[in-house]
Amino acid sequence: MTSWLLQAVLLYGEGEPVDVRTDGERIVEIGAALPVGDSRAYDAAGCVLLPGLVDLHTHLREPGREDAETVETGTRAAALGGFTAVHAMANTDPVADTAGVVEQVWRLGQEAGHCDVAPVGAVTVGLGGEQMAELGTMADSAARVRVFSDDGKCVSDASLMRRALEYVKAFDGVIAQHAQEPRLTVGAQMNEGITSSRLGLTGWPAVAEEAVIARDCLLAGHVGSRLHVCHVSTAGSVELIRWAKGKGWDVTAEVTPHHLSLTDDLACSYDPVFKVNPPLRTDVDVEALRAGLADGTIDCVATDHAPHALEDKETEWGAALPGMTGLETALSVVVDTLVEPGLMSWRQVAERLSETPARIGRLEGHGRPLAVGEPANLCLVDPAARWTVDARAMATRSRNTPFAGHELPARVRATFLRGRPTVLDGKATS
Ligand SMILES: [Zn+2]
Repeated sequence: MTSWLLQAVLLYGEGEPVDVRTDGERIVEIGAALPVGDSRAYDAAGCVLLPGLVDLHTHLREPGREDAETVETGTRAAALGGFTAVHAMANTDPVADTAGVVEQVWRLGQEAGHCDVAPVGAVTVGLGGEQMAELGTMADSAARVRVFSDDGKCVSDASLMRRALEYVKAFDGVIAQHAQEPRLTVGAQMNEGITSSRLGLTGWPAVAEEAVIARDCLLAGHVGSRLHVCHVSTAGSVELIRWAKGKGWDVTAEVTPHHLSLTDDLACSYDPVFKVNPPLRTDVDVEALRAGLADGTIDCVATDHAPHALEDKETEWGAALPGMTGLETALSVVVDTLVEPGLMSWRQVAERLSETPARIGRLEGHGRPLAVGEPANLCLVDPAARWTVDARAMATRSRNTPFAGHELPARVRATFLRGRPTVLDGKATS
């Protein structure tokens, strides 16, 4: 395998420029103005080097909806976004609720080779919310599942949630909850508030999220297990997670780029590209989410990349499926909303988009320090680049990005997966 010499990079965006040499799957040398030798030199002056990004929450849609995305197209999009590993959510068709399906998704990821795919196992059979899936056999499978979620649906039965939390302790797993009290969100179309009243759309109230988070934090504390809260969207949820952490409970949480940047007044356009679950909230919520991510109450950013075929999205608001793509814009949105305004450093970007999600997902070899001997899973970013999002020019098979036409800062120039470039000069290598 080619040895690479990344020249004049800023590690975590800090300090003096250094050169980073890879050989085989690892970083073998870091220093100022290293000799090129037998390596292939890559001029990266001005670029920030981060550990490869890790997504805890990606919908790859395969098996079942290959018209919206495949493991191949989704992971190529991930690599272009700087990711070296993604967790593939279980709400496929068939549902990833057996060792057979999670191993299939894992193998498709290996074959595509753009980034590692860690399948998420369903908590309940068929996402039905009634019978616990075979979590242990998924954990023991070749896919080594550690994250379990019925995402798209909430595990609303408190007794079942308690048993699932207890069960995953045996193999250091975590339950990732899509917090949505179903009885409070029947027919919900958007955030419940002034805008939903004005538009006459059924509201999805903040309390439907917060009630489940409060209950699950209490359950996780009671049984001493790990809970991860998916896509936190309200100011009240941030307060609850801060409270649970203060108790010493093992609770972690993620926020999406779109909840860090967009608000519910976008629904006034009736453009279903802005329909998502949980819905876009208010300015007050966005501010609280940014502050919560910056101060560590919210542990990480996760994309909730949710590609949809045209016919499911380009229809009237009420009939459109909720969800937005996000893998190729996530880093830029975080830079736009947190780094450039001075709320977060690049060092914190490495924590929130790589180190912490890798730790929550118990992924080996990802989110590691930029140091000699570590796996060369790397994300090289040009912080000075500016680009305009073009939905048609993306690697994802779907076009439902809410950022189409937006000018965003920072662009991924290269991604390395175990020493092999998956992206070079901003283009996928395969
Ligand atoms: Zn969800």
